[in-house]
Amino acid sequence: MKVGFHRSSASGRRRVFAACVLSVLAFALTACGGVAARDDDRKVVLTTFTVLADMARNVAGEHLRVESITKVGAEIHGYEPTPGDIKKAAKADLILDNGLNLEAWFAQFVADLDVPHVVVSEGITPMDIGEDAYRGKPNPHAWMSPVNAQIYVDNTARAFSDLDPGNAEAYRANAEAYKTQLGAVRDDLVSAVSALPADQRALVTCEGAFSYLARDAGLTEKYIWPVNAEQQATPQQIGSVIDFVRQRGVPAVFCESTVSDAPMQRVVEATSARFGGVLYVDSLSEADGPVPTYLDLIRHDATTIATALAGASR
Ligand SMILES: [Zn+2]
Repeated sequence: MKVGFHRSSASGRRRVFAACVLSVLAFALTACGGVAARDDDRKVVLTTFTVLADMARNVAGEHLRVESITKVGAEIHGYEPTPGDIKKAAKADLILDNGLNLEAWFAQFVADLDVPHVVVSEGITPMDIGEDAYRGKPNPHAWMSPVNAQIYVDNTARAFSDLDPGNAEAYRANAEAYKTQLGAVRDDLVSAVSALPADQRALVTCEGAFSYLARDAGLTEKYIWPVNAEQQATPQQIGSVIDFVRQRGVPAVFCESTVSDAPMQRVVEATSARFGGVLYVDSLSEADGPVPTYLDLIRHDATTIATALAGASR
């Protein structure tokens, strides 16, 4: 086939001409695509996961283009960036990451990039992971406290003002308005849980991702494994949760949207607890799902937890 293109025959020349026309068309389409993209001359901010992207959009308003590197539903701790992610990041103006060892892949990801990045959890008081190989390490899920989320928002507003000083006032005003909403969602969380009898305020989940939320809400936390990783849900870990559920008479247990709930179903089979529902922590849902925004995520989790522990579900 290739040989045919180089043959100096009439049909060969026609084919070359046809190929050139197609190339020109393809080039024109690419160029048009490029022009369309250049119409949006806003600076581009990437975040490591969807929750941070939503917070960042609330601060950015219409002034910046914000995208998440990992997609909805992705496992974010041990994510493996694609060549497309690296290409996109190389053209970005700023990258926001959570820090606290959440994104195991991030240091390597940015090592060869000439793009500034800002750790949005800077300034929160970390809670330690109390168990296993993680003992003494910070629990990375600090955004699950809406109070911490206010610090994330301040850090984001500061980073945006440095990136785009002309709109600094808008970022500050957007951040203040959003922080008011975060305060309200925190109050709703606390009042939902405080309506439960004191002995039913126990939160049993797959990953130990709810320490900050449990602290804010006044829940005792128990989980199967501390952080999503390859070695999780050992018989010892499941046995320990079964003992806890039996001793406390916990009425309902939960698992998160980004992992299999099979290990928690074994707890359900071995105890009198029901499966209370899916909680969201490491990812938002799609726009038409239950938690398209971070505020929805906290509201959804608070309602799911309070309803199931009160025995009102099923
Ligand atoms: Zn997690």
